[in-house]
Amino acid sequence: MSEPSIFTRILEGEIPGEIIAETENAFVIRDIAPKAPVHLLVIPKTGEYRNVVELAAGDPSLLAELVGLANSVAAEHAGGDFRLVFNTGPKAGQTVFHVHAHVLGGDLDEASLG
Ligand code: ADP
Repeated sequence: MSEPSIFTRILEGEIPGEIIAETENAFVIRDIAPKAPVHLLVIPKTGEYRNVVELAAGDPSLLAELVGLANSVAAEHAGGDFRLVFNTGPKAGQTVFHVHAHVLGGDLDEASLG
């Protein structure tokens, strides 16, 4: 067994973090280092999938649940439109290997977000 990820530790209340939305299998927190006016993380409760490729292969309905939850928190917190980003692999900037979707919203700065 690998160590629980930082997200599992937040979900289990071991370290602080406000859960702003939740479904049966996923939850949402605010990113601690926001890169957009609204920057949320949509995270499966299970830590068994390291990235979105593994999640899509292993549990496509859970991936669909993440997308639906991203849409609803973007509607509530970011005025509707949003960018959904899954960093996949260290060279792409992934640092937490418990799959999570970045929901970026608000007035996005095209220059800095690419
Ligand atoms: P990156 O760090 O390059 O964005 P990831 O795609 O793996 O890599 O994203 C991990 C995200 O988790 C980062 O955006 C980081 O700011 C966020 N994060 C790390 N620790 C916490 C925490 N305790 N609470 C909320 N967000 C966190």
